[in-house]
Amino acid sequence: MKIILLGAPGAGKGSQAAIITEKYGIPHISTGDVLRANIKQGTELGKFAKEYLDKGELVPDEVVVDIVANRIKEEDCKKGFLLDGFPRTIEQAKALDKLTEIDIVINIVVDFDLIIDRITGRRMCACGATYHITTYSSDTCKACGGKLYQRKDDTVETVANRLEVYNKQTAPLIEYYKNKGILKDVNGSISIQATFEQVQKLLE
Ligand code: ADP
Ligand code: ZN
Repeated sequence: MKIILLGAPGAGKGSQAAIITEKYGIPHISTGDVLRANIKQGTELGKFAKEYLDKGELVPDEVVVDIVANRIKEEDCKKGFLLDGFPRTIEQAKALDKLTEIDIVINIVVDFDLIIDRITGRRMCACGATYHITTYSSDTCKACGGKLYQRKDDTVETVANRLEVYNKQTAPLIEYYKNKGILKDVNGSISIQATFEQVQKLLE
């Protein structure tokens, strides 16, 4: 199964991706995670991408298309994969069409007034766990004991720009995949588990 997760920042793509890939045993491909890992390791790609991420802008299409093209060629992607945060522009979607055929695009729909709170209250751990300050008050990860931190682009200032970028550049993908007949909406304004139940129905 080749799946794309679509949705605004804060829609819960990462949370759903973690459950789906665990349950169905397919690789989780997050372009955001790949870029952040490169920034952390100080690679050439990381140095190039950093200023885009810090501003909440998209890195150029060629860069992310390259990342995905190489990743989905790997052996573990033969049985399928889940794309999280890619494609994010019509150009990226067209490039992906040339690389492979996607089975389903799951569009996580979230009330806009929830998004800012979700993102600015989000705290991360290096192990991949994420928390929200309203439901988790400790500053250490309950999975690994690591120290929680806030993503640099999860601040009020950057979120507004990320939402604008989403509306302008990514939202048109909804129409793009609707026209292909593979777009399915799920409600992302409810709990992670309740959203996943809708996803599960679509994947069965
Ligand atoms: P979120 O969905 O919460 O905004 P991501 O981790 O998917 O977070 O992306 C974080 C940042 O990484 C984006 O704001 C952008 O700068 C960069 N990025 C990730 N994926 C892409 C992509 N497909 N195209 C361009 N830039 C991307
Ligand atoms: Zn952790």
